[in-house]
Amino acid sequence: MIGTSHISALTQKYLDQEERFGAHNYHPLPVVLNRASGVFVWDVDDKKYYDFLSAYSAVNHGHCHPKIIAAFIEQAQKLTLTSRAFHNDVMAEYTEYITSYFGYDKVLPMNTGVEAVETALKLARKWAYEVKGVEENKAKILVCAQNFHGRTLNVVSFSTDPSAKNNFGPFTPGYEVVEYNNIAALQAALQDKNVAAFLAEPIQGEAGVVVPDEGYLSTAAAMCREANVLFIADEIQTGLARTGKMLACDHENVRPDILILGKALSGGTMPVSAVLADDEIMLTIRPGEHGSTYGGNPLACKVAITALQVLKDEKLAENAAIQGEYLRSKLKALNNPHVSIIRGKGLLNAIVIDHVNKDAAWDLCLHLKDNGLLAKPTHGDKIRFAPPLVITREEMDDCISIISKSLQAIS
Ligand code: PLP
Repeated sequence: MIGTSHISALTQKYLDQEERFGAHNYHPLPVVLNRASGVFVWDVDDKKYYDFLSAYSAVNHGHCHPKIIAAFIEQAQKLTLTSRAFHNDVMAEYTEYITSYFGYDKVLPMNTGVEAVETALKLARKWAYEVKGVEENKAKILVCAQNFHGRTLNVVSFSTDPSAKNNFGPFTPGYEVVEYNNIAALQAALQDKNVAAFLAEPIQGEAGVVVPDEGYLSTAAAMCREANVLFIADEIQTGLARTGKMLACDHENVRPDILILGKALSGGTMPVSAVLADDEIMLTIRPGEHGSTYGGNPLACKVAITALQVLKDEKLAENAAIQGEYLRSKLKALNNPHVSIIRGKGLLNAIVIDHVNKDAAWDLCLHLKDNGLLAKPTHGDKIRFAPPLVITREEMDDCISIISKSLQAIS
């Protein structure tokens, strides 16, 4: 499946080395990167590319944002890790900063996205038993078909993607799948008094940027409130300005009961995630009941404060809205017969490739690469277009020419 893309001897050396010694749990494009700045990355042969994936939306601020890197270096030379056995001054500052930024009583800091999802699920169960009064071990959490929330055994237990589950069983009980973007299905599932929470992505990123109908999130959140069920928004990929608002839930003025953030919370420098909720939920977890050695480390907290500041200072949500609208309109104007769907919000977008060649999306990504733009297919026929949010109109025009030229190559 490597296609016709040109691969230098140097690149091949790295590909072979990784193939030989690294686990085969990913299928990357054959490009080996070694530096980056803003919307650009360079490979080991010094070829420059636009980054149209942004590390799955972790690099919203652009690669190596100078303010984030400066904060990182300064803190790294001072104090990096205390564990939670002791307090650190930056975590105290961060807890106040992020809770007032998003308007919640408390934050629980973690590292990777999936750990924050696990944290939210544990909180929802605790709340169900200790506040809502669900009978012991009966709590149920509703999730959506085609969800993606990470890779732990518990989280893949409620995946509907066979490749995430095949031969990983037995799975964790306590989840029920409802169709995404289907209010009636959610309403029916909410009748069960043991339902603790409804977990959803405001836009399903990994599924191929599936945007629900307008009103779905606000109706779902209102129905959850009515049923005394927590609405948990996984904004790990959609949050932090990516979709043209600070949170994707903001498009419908929805305030989740539990908000999950990750990825761009560190501007792409290290794994930093967070769960935000009010006291009634957050204080159900007491000392010793949950945690992580690195969660809340001062380096992560300093970087996160800076990354959140940069989002507002540089109006990145506004730019995402403008450039995203422009990108979609220009892609539609290309009128390419092999692009059957163009969808997205802000700078979280995808195209669906319709072609007799089932590897056409992969081949298109190889052409894009050769022409200087990196993107990656998901689920075979979908390609995400999600550049860093600092992209300018001129850069976007350049990217649209590259996409147009590459599409012609697969025609
Ligand atoms: N939730 C969503 C919506 C995601 O997109 C991802 C990663 O792509 C995750 C959770 C998992 O995050 P991580 O890979 O940092 O564990």
